[in-house]
This record gives sequence, structure tokens and C-alpha cells, in this order.
Amino acid sequence: MSTADERQTLHLPQGHTKLLLHSCCAPCSGEVMEALHASGIDYAIFFYNPNIHPKKEYLLRKEENIRFAEQHGIEFIDADYDTDNWFARAKGMEYEPERGIRCTMCFDMRFERTALYAKENGYTLISSSLGISRWKDMNQINDCGHRAAAPYEGIEYWDYNWRKKGGSKRMIEISKRERFYQQEYCGCVYSLRDSNLHRKAQGRDLIKLGVQYYGDDE
Ligand code: SF4
Repeated sequence: MSTADERQTLHLPQGHTKLLLHSCCAPCSGEVMEALHASGIDYAIFFYNPNIHPKKEYLLRKEENIRFAEQHGIEFIDADYDTDNWFARAKGMEYEPERGIRCTMCFDMRFERTALYAKENGYTLISSSLGISRWKDMNQINDCGHRAAAPYEGIEYWDYNWRKKGGSKRMIEISKRERFYQQEYCGCVYSLRDSNLHRKAQGRDLIKLGVQYYGDDE
């Protein structure tokens, strides 16, 4: 008998045989990757996150994701770290709050590149692990995903809700099991600044890169 939180066998939307999954980091993509793998779905990871700052943090997040992809024998496409383009697009949005227009731009940019790669490499379906995080606005992410796919005939964005059926819970369980690196801010220099300002106001220590791993506090 299945329980409410049991992982479901996934099926790609009709007409698609493989998936290009944009991944933001190992903690968010761990459950998504395992669910796809367990369902026998053909997919590859597309890592394109020029928003992540500084480079040390970018490499920490990327290496963790590569390690997990290798464990599962999943192709890992390591795309550009074109930070200049990201900063150019973020100009004038430096003080926007999280979930605001800067984040829309940030999702747009990452999904546009995912859709382009899909078009050039024979994929018809894209999706992202970004939506599994409870810190994110799923509607905002889905809108960006659909917008990125729209210019390409034959490319679709799969807006599957990765949080449901215990997905959010398993995301944490897998992160602890794998002792994934635990990032303490969304990713860009502005989210790092704002997270530190918030901590300062609460009298907490500022963020230190590369020190916190899931499960360390248990
Ligand atoms: S807060 Fe996160 S989603 Fe928003 S712009 Fe920064 S890195 Fe991108």
C-alpha cells in the first residue's frame, strides 16, 4: 500500500523521451535526480549558474553536484560561468528583494541557456531543480521556465512539482545522507550581502564559505 509521502514513479509528459534538467546545486537536485533515476528516465544535468558568487562558492556547489551525478552515472553538462553577463543583466537591480525582479532575471537567464542547449542538442524537454526549495516562488520559476522554452518550437518546460509526495522531506534526507555542502544564502553577491545584514541585525556570526555540511549538527 502506498503512503502519502511515497515517491511516485515519474513519467515524462507525452511526446518526450529524455529530459535536460537544469540543476542549481546538489541539495536541490538530489531528490529530483534520484526520483528520475528510479523512474528509469533518460536525463542529463545542465549546470549553468553564473549567479553564484564568489567563485569559491560556485566551485563548492558545482563539485558536490558532479560527485552526485557521477555516483548515479548521469551525464553532467558543465556550462559557462559567464559572470560578466549575469552582472550586466542584474544592473540596477542590486537592491531588489529575493523573489523580486532580480530573481526573475536570474531564472530567465539560466533557463534561456538551458533551452538553447536543449535546442542545439536534441532535447525537447527541460526542467529545473530550483522549484523544490521552499525558499523559492514556484510560480515565478515556472513562468520563467515556460518563457525560456517558448521561442523554440518543439521545446517544452516541464513544471512538475518536485515538492509533492514527500519530495521536500526526501531532499533533506538525501542531503544529510550524502553530507552535501550546505549553502547559507541563495547564491548571488546581493543575497550574500543581505543574508549577512540579516545575521548582523540578529547578532549572529556572518556566513563562512565552505564550512557547513548537512548532518553536521546532529
Ligand atoms: S537571490 Fe538567488 S535567485 Fe535571486 S538573483 Fe540572487 S542568486 Fe538569483
